[in-house]
Amino acid sequence: MKAVRLDAVGQIALHEVAVPVPGPGELLIRVEACGICGTDRHLYKGEFPCTPPVTLGHEYSGIVERIGPGVTGFVPGDRITADPNIVCGTCPQCRLGRVNLCQNLIALGIRRDGGFAEYALVPQAQAFALPASLPPDHGAFCEPLACCIHALDIAAIRPGDSVIVLGGGVIGLLCVQLAALAGAGRVVLSTRQAARRALAESLGADASADGSGPDGTERLLALVPGGADVVLECAGVGETVAQSLNLARSGGTVVIVGVMPGGEKVTVEPLNILTRELRILGSYINPFTHRRAADLIISGAIRVEPLISRRIALAEVPEAVANPPRSGEVKVLIVPHQR
Ligand code: NAP
Repeated sequence: MKAVRLDAVGQIALHEVAVPVPGPGELLIRVEACGICGTDRHLYKGEFPCTPPVTLGHEYSGIVERIGPGVTGFVPGDRITADPNIVCGTCPQCRLGRVNLCQNLIALGIRRDGGFAEYALVPQAQAFALPASLPPDHGAFCEPLACCIHALDIAAIRPGDSVIVLGGGVIGLLCVQLAALAGAGRVVLSTRQAARRALAESLGADASADGSGPDGTERLLALVPGGADVVLECAGVGETVAQSLNLARSGGTVVIVGVMPGGEKVTVEPLNILTRELRILGSYINPFTHRRAADLIISGAIRVEPLISRRIALAEVPEAVANPPRSGEVKVLIVPHQR
């Protein structure tokens, strides 16, 4: 079968490999779709830890092809989405229920082979059923949406709150939709590309602006006078992380969702945090949110079709991962078995 593997940092290529055999408790799935995520580009550039050689891809869904010994609850032909984050269940963080902080966390597509392939192994504990009626590639959005649901859980938006989302990639655009669903009174998206701003407004943002550059913060504060109750940083760049602290109202909450490369620093003014009692929180992956994400996609409450910019074959993946997203592009989906 074909698989796209990260051979080393900066080296990604299409390979011909054996179809894996499901071991005890494992499902072999025929991958229907796998998203390319900003994190895949971080992995390629060595900005986020992983263990190459490894088949990348942690946002995927597919049809069960074979089951390993001892599998219960899934049969060949079932459609599933994979939660890539495998936790140990026994470390102190897992025992506290903070499984996303597991000290022995192993992620499919990062430390074990993932979904940039025609077939992939998924432990049954990581599999969540999807209906046959769902468009085949929508299941690939469960993982990013599950991460955004955790960010919304952390943000604890109350009905009527004002929310600013920084960064109009798929994470930001999913957060815009979730914030609206959570009852936010006003949702504003900041992103530089006009096409993404228009998309955000069609998905439920009340307003949008290019908040970059010297006057960017003023432009956003003009849309949310006094600052927002909640700021969701979903760009993962120093400019927006620094800016997020100036966009929250006094007593407001900032949630850092975007990934900045390890070692990069941002200058903050502690007096700003202290005298305005800002709450600055991190949100990391998807603890217990994968099922909720799947249900929001199945119900149509979260719209994913408008986020799909193009569908590509496995052979096109190395070029797509090694380069920044094309202008206007939101989510690129890999469809390994496309005709
Ligand atoms: P993405 O497509 O790169 O989206 C981020 C967008 O932010 C960029 O495309 C860019 O769009 C915008 N941006 C950049 N500079 C900006 C600025 N100065 N002001 C406003 N917007 C700016 O990535 P994504 O897939 O949506 O993911 C977003 C981040 O979340 C990534 O860092 C990813 O690694 C991270 N992530 C975190 C988690 C978690 O568990 N915490 C989970 C998944 C992903 P424009 O060109 O339109 O400005």
